[in-house]
Amino acid sequence: MSNNQEFVVEKTTKQESLLENVKSQFSKAADIMQLDEGLRKILSINNNEIVVNFPVKMDDGNIRTFRGFRVQHNNALGPYKGGLRYHENLDMDTSRALATWMTYKTSLARLPFGGAKGGVQIDPKEYSKSELERITRRFTYAMGDNIGPEYDIPAPDVNTTAQTMAWIADTFASTKSPDERSRIHHVVTGKPVSAGGLEGRDRATGYGVVVSLKRWAEYRGLSLNGMSFILQGYGKVGYWAAHYLEKYGARMVAVQDESGSVYNADGIQVEELRNYSRNNQNKIIGYDRAESIENDQFFALKCDICIPAAMGNQITEHNAYTIDAKVIAEGANGPVNNIADSILQERKVDIIPDILCNSGGVIASYFEWLQNRNGEIWEIDEVLEKLENMISNSFKRVLTRSQEHDTDWRTAAYIEATSRIADAYEQSGIFP
Ligand code: GLU
Repeated sequence: MSNNQEFVVEKTTKQESLLENVKSQFSKAADIMQLDEGLRKILSINNNEIVVNFPVKMDDGNIRTFRGFRVQHNNALGPYKGGLRYHENLDMDTSRALATWMTYKTSLARLPFGGAKGGVQIDPKEYSKSELERITRRFTYAMGDNIGPEYDIPAPDVNTTAQTMAWIADTFASTKSPDERSRIHHVVTGKPVSAGGLEGRDRATGYGVVVSLKRWAEYRGLSLNGMSFILQGYGKVGYWAAHYLEKYGARMVAVQDESGSVYNADGIQVEELRNYSRNNQNKIIGYDRAESIENDQFFALKCDICIPAAMGNQITEHNAYTIDAKVIAEGANGPVNNIADSILQERKVDIIPDILCNSGGVIASYFEWLQNRNGEIWEIDEVLEKLENMISNSFKRVLTRSQEHDTDWRTAAYIEATSRIADAYEQSGIFP
């Protein structure tokens, strides 16, 4: 072990928080681009931080109280945009980090949006469907006009679905006048297609992960055909990424979810595992055409592509040395912490950063928003084609910035995203 490595591990006996990660990622880019001090200050704060506490009647008649968050980081480029997650660990700091990532994600994709994030601090597995409906509706009511179709537009995130978005849209509309009601479908994106949603929004994030991998493979002079991949998270993002990778001839050799990890060097069939998990309370454990392995063996498996598509801080100083992949494609937000990032860079493992790699979701959200606003219906082929173009262009811009500043792709992505925001401030100035 080099001295450098010893230092790195010692420095971080405490795992960094997501907020510390995003702050230092931004700082690194701001230093390189010599960002104006005033802008640095503006982008280091959140415009609005909303906490709501609200009561809900449970199925057994008892009342429980819940806590929800919405952090609106920045709206220099347009309305606040970003998901709502339902998770027991969701707190203000996590919402702040995730909201900040959204600002850079939307800017990098050149969308007319800012960044926001939030959700409710619950483990949704503990509640019935009707309880989740009442929690969602009461949360929407509590947020009131802090969200709105031209102001702040939520979308699905961890543990929230098209159904959740349909409840939000309906509750929001129900509090408005009959005249307004028909014009505000776009208060949320990621709705069910039958409720104004966009064909293909369900698969957009996973599809985008695969588009980034296609561009990465081209850049490295490789082909996805025949490559092996490991996947953490078999939800909306992970499943669709696996689905398209399999189509391109790649082989899924291991999957991890909350229930455990399964491995088969010969390949695991994507659809078959999905059907198994659907009939097994959405758990992959027990799937008998793969062997069950210890969770801590998972990231050390030899593969070409590693896709963390679950939660933040999964690849850290504790397992980054064991990664045996050519590339990490960040399907989740913040899955690789900063220490791990430096270790992986030193080890020459490519990383396609989250704000690029998983931007397919918010790009498709933008299409849905446009579709609703203009009263149009888009077709899936058109959606996927446009999505592919937009992510490919983002990828190119990141490569250009990376060469220009001789820096890693994550920092290059921040530089590209931040300069667009800096331009907006330069042109419009600061009120008053
Ligand atoms: N939750 C997704 C993300 O983290 C999508 C956000 C959106 O569509 O607004 O990017």
